[in-house]
Amino acid sequence: METEQVKCLIIGSGPAGYTAAIYAGRANLSPVLYAGLQPGGQLTTTTDVENFPGYPAGIGGPELMEDLRKQAERFGADIRYGVATAADLGSSPYKITIDDAKVVEAQTVIIATGATAKYLGLDDEKKYAGMGVSACATCDGFFYRKKVVAVVGGGDTACEEASYLAGLASKVYLIVRKPFLRASKVMQQRIFNNPKIEVLFEHNAVGLYGENGVEGVHLVKRKGQPDEQRYDLPIDGFFLAIGHRPNSDIFKAWLDTDEVGYLLTEPGTPRTKVPGVFAAGDVADPHYRQAITAAASGCMAAIEAERYLLSR
Ligand code: NDP
Repeated sequence: METEQVKCLIIGSGPAGYTAAIYAGRANLSPVLYAGLQPGGQLTTTTDVENFPGYPAGIGGPELMEDLRKQAERFGADIRYGVATAADLGSSPYKITIDDAKVVEAQTVIIATGATAKYLGLDDEKKYAGMGVSACATCDGFFYRKKVVAVVGGGDTACEEASYLAGLASKVYLIVRKPFLRASKVMQQRIFNNPKIEVLFEHNAVGLYGENGVEGVHLVKRKGQPDEQRYDLPIDGFFLAIGHRPNSDIFKAWLDTDEVGYLLTEPGTPRTKVPGVFAAGDVADPHYRQAITAAASGCMAAIEAERYLLSR
């Protein structure tokens, strides 16, 4: 198999990956970045980004990512299409296989492979993507001021998203498949005490409808039970909050993860337990998952990579 040696390999092209590339480029590390399955990452599926500092009028998600890419290229980052398909972090240089076709031997590796929001798997989620379906209330909630929205899920994320949306929307339905919430008690209390939030227990969303965007959701109550009911609920926005899956599979044999699969780093740093291998952005962040926090950790990872190379 073809091999190539690099000083700094960055895997992933979201805000963490590109910011790492900007810093590594300016530090003369000649970074090579593989963009992954979704070049530009999760933000390319968002229309307007209004909470990234520096853009008082907001900026389109794809446009922001394009700017970050150009900024990284300006400092010499070599940005390529390709997906990391295997990893060997057993000894330095670390070996990352790209597209099952080539091995990159890297002195430092910055893992910025992100996380993927889980969807229910309904065809309508794809049909209405960007037209009323979202997996990020912080990103898109603002567009539903004084409107009616539904959030799917019964965990802490769903409760947090429902509370956040209740501050903007006129009404929030929380669609929960079980007869109880999985979220922590304090989050549950917040939900039950909020008059704008109505919890629909034992409900499953099975489809969406609407002419020009989401106008409602098809629901099934007590699915499969003798008293099963099917009905339609008018809504303007449909938010998924059924969990995220960190894209960490190929690294699990070498690095520690939490029970969900998020990569574990030394607290407050992007350092993994393997010297010279760093994790930045959502793949190591179950808590904040914001573009700006991902970018910040990408910066930290590049600075760490530079210091690691200097110290050898
Ligand atoms: P969780 O896995 O905790 O919850 C996922 C929720 O989505 C569950 O209610 C689950 O239902 C539901 N769900 C999953 N799949 C489907 C499906 N196909 N159809 C309908 N419902 C579905 O994920 P979270 O993202 O909420 O939380 C992840 C971790 O992050 C947790 O440890 C959480 O505590 C933590 N967190 C903490 C916060 C805080 O402390 N402020 C904020 C956000 C997250 P079911 O219960 O039936 O399985």
